[in-house]
Parts: sequence; C-alpha cells; structure tokens
Amino acid sequence: MATINTNYQKLSPRYLFAEIARQVNAYQAAHPDTHLIRLGIGDVTQPLPNAAIQAMHRAVDECACASTFRGYGPEQGYDFLIDAILQHDFQPRGIHLSPSEVFISDGAKSDTGNIGDILSTQNIVGITDPVYPVYADTNIMAGRTLHSIPCHADNAFTGDIPSEHLDIIFLCYPNNPTGAVMTKEKLTLWVNYAIQHKAIILYDAAYEAFIQDDRLPHSIYEIEGARQCAIEFRSFSKTAGFTGIRCGYTIIPHALKSTDGVSLNRLWNRRQCSKFNGASYISQRGAEAIYTPEGQQQVRHTIQHYMRNAHYFHDCLEQLGLTVYGGQNAPYLWVSTPDGEDSWSFFRRLLTDAHVVVTPGEGFGPHGEGYIRITSFGTWEDSLEAMERIKKLYK
Ligand code: PLP
Repeated sequence: MATINTNYQKLSPRYLFAEIARQVNAYQAAHPDTHLIRLGIGDVTQPLPNAAIQAMHRAVDECACASTFRGYGPEQGYDFLIDAILQHDFQPRGIHLSPSEVFISDGAKSDTGNIGDILSTQNIVGITDPVYPVYADTNIMAGRTLHSIPCHADNAFTGDIPSEHLDIIFLCYPNNPTGAVMTKEKLTLWVNYAIQHKAIILYDAAYEAFIQDDRLPHSIYEIEGARQCAIEFRSFSKTAGFTGIRCGYTIIPHALKSTDGVSLNRLWNRRQCSKFNGASYISQRGAEAIYTPEGQQQVRHTIQHYMRNAHYFHDCLEQLGLTVYGGQNAPYLWVSTPDGEDSWSFFRRLLTDAHVVVTPGEGFGPHGEGYIRITSFGTWEDSLEAMERIKKLYK
C-alpha cells in the first residue's frame, strides 16, 4: 500500500490565490455586470518586448528545418543566454562569475522550491513574514522546521538579524509582498550573519529590474563574502513579461560549500541533470533578445509603465490618509488597513464597494495582518479607474 508524504497535510488547505479567486469568482457570478479591476494577483499585462517576439519567431523557424532543428538542450541552459546574462546583469556591477555558475531554468518559482532537494531536511529555515508563499509551502512539504523572521515597519520590512542559529534564510528584495528594498548596509549584515553561522542565504531577486534607486544592490554578490554563502534566483517573468513563456536562472557560486565542504554547485548540477531537461530553446532565444539594445529599451519602457502606476497609487492612497509602503522600487504597494480593520475584511469591502480586487496581507503570513497588497501590473486606465473608485469610497 503506497503512503503519502504526510507533510502535505500540514499545509494550509488552500493556496492563497486560489482562495481569492474563489471569493472573487463568487462575487462576479452574483454580479455579472460589474467590471472588477484586479490589482491582486502578480501577473503582468503588457505584451512581450518586440525584440523577444522576433527572436522567438526566428527560433520557431529554425525548428522547422532539419539542419537547424533543436531538440533537447543542455540542462544548464544554452551558452548564448548564459553569456548574455553575465555580460549584462553582472559584469557592469563588478561581479565576475563563470558560466558554470549560472543555471537557466523555467522560472524562479520552481528553482526556489526545488533548491531544497539538495539541502538536508534537518536544516532550520528562516522565512520572512509576510512572505511569498512558495518558500514556506515547499519547506513544509519537505518537513523542515520553519523559523519566522517578522518584517514590519520598524525594521523597514527587512527583518531583524536573528539572535539564534539558522541554517537557511530566504530573502526576497525588492520584496513581494511588501515592496520593501534591502540596502547594501542591511544586506551586509545578513551576509555577515550567514558567514558567521555557516548558513546559506537563498536570495530571490525576481524584482531586481524594478529598482529605481542607484544606491540599492541588484545582486547579493555586490556584497563582500556573498559567494561563500548565497544562491541567487532571477526571473524573466516580471522583467520582460515572461510569466507565460517561462525562463529564469539561478546562480550557485563554486565558492559556496556546505558545512561538510560539499560544493552546492556540483549537487545542483547533478540534480538538474536527473530531474530537469532544460528550458525551451525558444524561451531562451527570447530571453537572450532582451539584452540587445532594442530589447533593453523595450524592457525599460514596460517597467516604467508599471512604475508609473505604482507611483500614482502611492500618491493617491497617501492623499487619502492611508499609510503606504513600497511602490518606489518594486511593483508592489503594502498598505495599512484603515482603523485596524482586518485584512480579509478590507479586501471584501474593496471588492464589494469599490469593485477593486487586492490581496489581503494575512494571506502572506501572520505579520501581514493589518495590510493589503496592491500590484501595479495593470493598465494605466484601470489604475486611474481603481483609484477613482477607492477615492469615492472614502468621500
Ligand atoms: N519569486 C517571487 C518573489 C515572485 O513573486 C514570483 C512570482 O510572482 C516568483 C518568484 C515566480 O517567478 P517565475 O515566474 O519566474 O516562476
């Protein structure tokens, strides 16, 4: 008789966004003529950069011809994309990595979840609260003990350096859901902690492209010593609209070793060769094209579109007297609920009275209570309309 992984029974029964969708769909079914504006889920809305579209068309055409057809590619990704990543994302910031430290993937969600395959289930894992639910869920699935790192306004949503020992720490900056950023000074404290405790930082930089302030680090490897203690995850999803195309990458430096001296790069390579058959050739050609001059310009244009929404939300909500965080270097705004209202109740009030869908902060962890998350991935017209509706609610 086959038995299940009973850790799955410790998960909360519903995935946050499935629960929101259930409530929103029920409301829409009961009010079919209502136009809901969705500022909840973190999917993008703008089309792919034209440079990526053209490159993917060419890649499809190559596959139409036996002499240029591509089948299975390298599990680690194609050199053309790895070289473009090193040259554009790291070398200009003074970070010199070798191509074998880069692993192309089908996105950061799978890699941040799967990285646990090469780490012991005995490790104690520090998880910021509120948090992108994938880190918590996947570690619960593996049976690891989680240690909460509360993030609140007093620590700028970047957590206090723990006084106890942790083996693994998930950090995500710019942050989903709070929109907070990590300064070099604070990230240095985290790196120093990891070195001192022989811990590993799993650094999710999926929103790095949204950083507007030049003083902020884009990569954890801008911090001295990080190669000995950190893995970094990147994604083309939000940077270049690849949420449906699927492509990202993970950096595992050769210098990163477990406490018993084993190379994590070697283990991850072994894991990928057994469990992953590479991101699609077409996606990788599309991702490569965002590093061309036209691609870079198109990506910047789309990000500015989203950041214009974010800045507009920030101003409008502050004018209404709400306390607003994020939205300056991230596509997310983290907004205090008025008068201590609980986050699901405020979510339902915005849904029913303003027809605007947001995400209740409590869904990201207990320290998310008292906040809602607003995303700036919509159209400009919807963003204007959403703020008009919320303003009316307050009049
Ligand atoms: N990491 C964070 C913090 C995210 O918010 C998301 C998506 O919302 C992901 C990773 C997933 O990225 P990908 O589409 O590359 O799987």
